[in-house]
Amino acid sequence: MIRFEEVGKVYPDGTTAVDGLSFDVAEGELVTLVGPSGCGKTTTMTMVNRLIEPTSGRILVEGEDISRVDPVRLRRRIGYVIQQVGLFPHRTVLDNTATVPTLLGWKKRRARARAAELLDLVGLDPKTFGDRYPEQLSGGQRQRVGVARALAADPPVLLMDEPFGAVDPVVRERLQNEFLNLQATVRKTVLLVTHDIEEAVRMGDRIAVYGHGHIEQFDTPSAVLGTP
Ligand code: ADP
Ligand code: ADP
Repeated sequence: MIRFEEVGKVYPDGTTAVDGLSFDVAEGELVTLVGPSGCGKTTTMTMVNRLIEPTSGRILVEGEDISRVDPVRLRRRIGYVIQQVGLFPHRTVLDNTATVPTLLGWKKRRARARAAELLDLVGLDPKTFGDRYPEQLSGGQRQRVGVARALAADPPVLLMDEPFGAVDPVVRERLQNEFLNLQATVRKTVLLVTHDIEEAVRMGDRIAVYGHGHIEQFDTPSAVLGTP
């Protein structure tokens, strides 16, 4: 579903962020990218939706070389969740969630029905929360809206960059579990960036363990932990 072939990125200032990345992510697989700050995780992830362009190698999504796909069209097939959720402050929760279907030209009623369905799926009653504004939500609730919004147009691929990083440990664990339950139903192909090895182990079907600018190990959680 996602394939990296010898991908490298050197930023204009000469910083080599990543080098020689080659790996595959299968359809419906959740791969966590884990490692210390600055090791190249976010660079890796944002090359998949072409927020950043690689300087060598190529990336395929659903068999297609993404350098040949219009970035705007590509991003409609790829949901994206970041730590600072980036909800539109002057739009209601329902309208935030309906953003991508609306951009795709869905009829308003259908887009809003879809948004309500997704809010339900992430555990937010649309009747209670749909008309609220982001500032009226807790941190955990905002992250849930971020996930709902990313999934609203049913993209096959989901990118998540420290999606649970901004909330306290108790809420974080709850969100992790909720997301795993959700993923068991929706089966997206997911790349999830975290600096937290426990999160990587708990969430990942496989884990990419980063050293500086490269992947040191790419394996199942038990293999990474060295347990049978
Ligand atoms: P991580 O997500 O693991 O924290 P990043 O992918 O953000 O790592 O960064 C990898 C390396 O690339 C770091 O050394 C970082 O300082 C550098 N880097 C990231 N973005 C830029 C940029 N726009 N220009 C120059 N260097 C950058
Ligand atoms: P969560 O576990 O989802 O992060 P919190 O413990 O942070 O929830 O918040 C508990 C409750 O307080 C939530 O149900 C939320 O609706 C409410 N709440 C939090 N912040 C606000 C706010 N700024 N305005 C209105 N309600 C809020």
